[in-house]
Amino acid sequence: MQVIKFGGSSVASAENINKVVDIIKNKPKTDKVVIVVSALGGITDLLLQCAQLAANNNETYKTSLQEIETRHLNTVKELIPVTQQSSVLSAVKKMCNEIEDICNGIFLLGELSERTKDKIVSYGELLSSQIIAAKLKAVELNVQWKDARELIATDSNFGAAFVDFSKTNTAIKNYFNTEASSLFILPGFISADTNGITTTLGRGGSDYTAAIIAGAADAKVLEIWTDVSGMMTADPRIVTNIKLIPKISYQEAMELSHFGAKVIYPPTIQPVMSKNIPVWIKNTFAPQDEGTVIQNESMKNGSAIRGISSINKISLISLEGSGMVGIPGFSKRLFEALANNKINVILITQSSSEHSICVAVDAANAVAAKQAVDTAFAYEIETKKVEPLFVENDLAIVALVGDNMKSHTGIAGRMFSAMGKNGVNIRAIAQGSSERNISSVIALSDVTKAVNVLHEAFFETTYKQVNVFIAGAGNVGGKLLAQLNQQLDYIKTSSRLNLKIVGIANSKKALLNDEGIDLNNWPALLAAAPANTIENYIDTIIAKNLRNTIFVDVTASDVVATCYNKLLQKSIAVVACNKVACSSSYNYYQQLKESAREFNAKFLFETNVGAGLPIIGTLNDLISSGDKINKMQAVLSGTLNFVFNNYDGKKSFASVVKQAQDEGYTEPDPRLDLSGKDVMRKIMILARESGEKIEMDDIANNSFMPESCMHGSVENFYAEMEKHEAHFKAIYEEAAAKGNKLKFVASYENGKAAVGLQHINPAHDFYHLYGKDNIVLFYTNRYPEQPMVVKGAGAGADVTASGVFADVIRATA
Ligand code: ADP
Ligand code: ASP
Ligand code: MG
Repeated sequence: MQVIKFGGSSVASAENINKVVDIIKNKPKTDKVVIVVSALGGITDLLLQCAQLAANNNETYKTSLQEIETRHLNTVKELIPVTQQSSVLSAVKKMCNEIEDICNGIFLLGELSERTKDKIVSYGELLSSQIIAAKLKAVELNVQWKDARELIATDSNFGAAFVDFSKTNTAIKNYFNTEASSLFILPGFISADTNGITTTLGRGGSDYTAAIIAGAADAKVLEIWTDVSGMMTADPRIVTNIKLIPKISYQEAMELSHFGAKVIYPPTIQPVMSKNIPVWIKNTFAPQDEGTVIQNESMKNGSAIRGISSINKISLISLEGSGMVGIPGFSKRLFEALANNKINVILITQSSSEHSICVAVDAANAVAAKQAVDTAFAYEIETKKVEPLFVENDLAIVALVGDNMKSHTGIAGRMFSAMGKNGVNIRAIAQGSSERNISSVIALSDVTKAVNVLHEAFFETTYKQVNVFIAGAGNVGGKLLAQLNQQLDYIKTSSRLNLKIVGIANSKKALLNDEGIDLNNWPALLAAAPANTIENYIDTIIAKNLRNTIFVDVTASDVVATCYNKLLQKSIAVVACNKVACSSSYNYYQQLKESAREFNAKFLFETNVGAGLPIIGTLNDLISSGDKINKMQAVLSGTLNFVFNNYDGKKSFASVVKQAQDEGYTEPDPRLDLSGKDVMRKIMILARESGEKIEMDDIANNSFMPESCMHGSVENFYAEMEKHEAHFKAIYEEAAAKGNKLKFVASYENGKAAVGLQHINPAHDFYHLYGKDNIVLFYTNRYPEQPMVVKGAGAGADVTASGVFADVIRATA
């Protein structure tokens, strides 16, 4: 015998039922086939809603009733030839009248018991099974309809009754052994108690009906036909890159479904497992797809993890108190109180001090749990031995499942590190002693992110998705976006990173697209995007709570810089070419470093010094490997180097500065460069990264700029420089007369930093420094005389953008 079950979506409409009929027609005629069906998709909910409206004295229940009737009548009319419709139409009509009578009664009484609810919902499966039986007869399949309530005996626990297997198995065996027919159809989900009153097996229970029949009748196979092509590595509604699990063990399937994989109702496995009957999950809408087989052994060579599932709407209840330590019986009483109130325990953890027991329950039971436990421990609460039950809501559980987990180390570590990197706070953890499951309780708002990062960590060997938000769409921002656009495909294959640019904002607008912004067209899209403030943009990034998020600041804005801490504290990586944050107060710099450490988020700013040159990275490597920076000497202003390399008194100094600005080397306000302030910021950042607690005021600046140039507008700055041409020329000639070059040098030694213009003779390392190049000499314990040197192009939008790009890639690690 084969038992095949079709779920709600498989029988949701006439069109779908036709597909079901095709599948049944293709079954070999040699074997008995038992079909179990769910109600038409959505009907169970509609019936419950209808009954609830009636109980609330809301007359609109009649509209819902009408909807239920019309859906069934229309399905019959579409499905069955007119000449064969009449008897099934009248059966449908009769059942709909009965539903109406019951609802009218509920309306008049204003009362709806669990027993009545079961009666009402039973019509869903009764209707669907009769309609499909009529259709099968219409295509000349000789099918026998049987009321499942005559076979499946339960207790009177309405809503989710317990099966009396000894009675049920006997009834099923007797029935199928004595009936000559080879094709049967039964309504799923419904059963009856010892008094013959209708009960149900719990939501999703048609799977269970089919399994009970398969188990009792020793079926060869059980097939569950649904709307997905098998059991997947995660819920397809949460993860896009899910993979099919071709084979799975009974235990694994049970764990996955217990922890939320809706594709199979958890109790389904038990009756078939004891008989070793294979269960196939197949797709009604793609019958050619292989599907999943659930059987005794699991896949041997696959990953240690078979799948990930999650349950939303969990509450965590904790019983705590010093009076519990070492005294037996507290947990027994806690679980008894819950069990007596029919509260199902989903997960348990107990701290080793025995000072608290923590239990996860369905959020719908939280209030009842509190009442039950506080009553059971009333005396201990009054005598302050335990605290009143502590309830936390809005939580969820994510579970990793796999038989092979027990033979693998490091799974929990990988699980927690993947979630930790993404700022998912873990409230409680449980690992079954079978080591088939590790579950964590997390905030409900983190579920989508958590399941996705876990899926990436355990299943997506292809690529990791990284969500990038950019602030700043100017010179460097534009170049960065162009480089990203060019390289995204390459990075996907070379580094297995799927970088998605999901946000681009400037000071006025924010362009957002979770699917990834079209980088060929971003300027137009940003221009058309709604007005937005940067603060709002940051709040949106945090609220989106996407996984592997990187925030990139390519502005020079103070406002953006003040937002970093907020982002880091949400475990969002920050990549900045903006120097404001690292060169503001030491306190803020320190705070950002600490947040990055505490919340496991990268904070990278390589381009703050020397654009794309690996200066900060080199310094960090020296220090982290135990070296000590004793002295630094550097030329750190691409602008000043360009200016002094190009100025020879022939063209005016102002015009050379203007050229540097036009070529994109200067800060947006070139006075920051010319005053030496930008160099001060850079040497301060290097000193801070070397471990020095240093502020801008601690740095000596021997400026060569006349005071009057530094006031007013940028135009005024250029005009004033023209007026002071003689001053600049004198500086130049003084150096040139000695055969020296002018370089604006930053130095750091013994905790002191200074910047200023210096004469550089031809023997000096800095003499041959051309164009906009930067150079840094690191004198360290390991490099005492011959310094470690980093030298190269140190300004320009292209190289800065490429440095930012490299930091973005580093931030994905
Ligand atoms: P039916 O009406 O056929 O009983 P259900 O809606 O109860 O179907 O179950 C199928 C659904 O289960 C799928 O559409 C899918 O969205 C969901 N689901 C959740 N987790 C998984 C998983 N791990 N694998 C496959 N489907 C899953
Ligand atoms: N119709 C019932 C429900 O929606 C049972 C089932 O479909 O399995 O819960
Ligand atoms: Mg189901």
